[in-house]
Amino acid sequence: MKHANISLFVPHMGCPHQCSFCNQKTISGSVKALTPEDVTETLQKAIQDNNEPLNTEVAFFGGSFTAIPRDYMISLLEASKPFIEKGFFNGVRISTRPDAIDDEILDILKQYHVKSIELGAQSTDEEVLTLNKRGHTREDIIKASSLIKSKGFSLGLQMMTGLLGDTDEKTLKTGEDIISLKPDTVRIYPTVVLEGTELSEKYKKGEFVPQTLENAVYLCSKLLRRFHDNNIRVIRLGLHSGGNVEDGFVAGVYHPAFGELCESAVYLDILKEKLKGYADEKDLIVLVKPSEISKMTGHKGCNKQQLLNEGYSITVKGDDGLSKYELKLKGRK
Ligand code: SF4
Repeated sequence: MKHANISLFVPHMGCPHQCSFCNQKTISGSVKALTPEDVTETLQKAIQDNNEPLNTEVAFFGGSFTAIPRDYMISLLEASKPFIEKGFFNGVRISTRPDAIDDEILDILKQYHVKSIELGAQSTDEEVLTLNKRGHTREDIIKASSLIKSKGFSLGLQMMTGLLGDTDEKTLKTGEDIISLKPDTVRIYPTVVLEGTELSEKYKKGEFVPQTLENAVYLCSKLLRRFHDNNIRVIRLGLHSGGNVEDGFVAGVYHPAFGELCESAVYLDILKEKLKGYADEKDLIVLVKPSEISKMTGHKGCNKQQLLNEGYSITVKGDDGLSKYELKLKGRK
């Protein structure tokens, strides 16, 4: 069974606003409007390539799906519907704006087997939302999230770090607000300044200072741990490489191993807390879930090196009985 979603990009259509950071053409790598024929062709090809039902969803990403003209939105859903009804895909997943959700739209989405809805929340701070020209309020995020959950959809929330006017406190508060909305999944994106955006103009004039990689890793690792502790899955950290991001990149945090850097920072934090009980022992074996060994060790061994600088020598080993972010310490003596 294959698991990767079939992603169909609906670039920059239907957005009543132009967010400070957004250049959808750059992010999706696509400029042409998606047609129902494109949907049919892509899904048919996916079936032919795999020759079996796919344990996956059809994902309409990239724009503000429920804000595009209604007839057009339905024509795309009509094209995917037969594939789902024949059992080739599990359902449809869409991403949209918080102010483009209401009862009527959700009832339409239900008819077309939409199972998961992701909202671009980005921040719950009113000032950050306004400065970045989001065109929706914190209240829109709260209302849309609860409506989506009350109608039985899976809820995904996307947030950003390092936006214009953002601070560490505001970002962490957004994380806490998101936890209280109980989404099933979260995506976290540090701000990337792209050519052709308002942020890019402000950056060039010195009016916007992008977040550093170090600060983004620090904040995202804190968020990651809080979401994990509250049983919320973080399904993406940082923009995917590929598409046209490299071509449009101006500044900001865009690192191919960003997720791994954040996960390693979480492990380092947890280990440092545990080390407080091992003040006298400096030579230690650290046990983690086997698949997490490289994250504990750190990108290019950075966690081991940092601990060495603090006087600890660690050897990381796998233990099948441990789960993610769980670790045990043993003195070597
Ligand atoms: S709502 Fe989404 S797609 Fe539209 S401009 Fe803002 S970020 Fe881009």
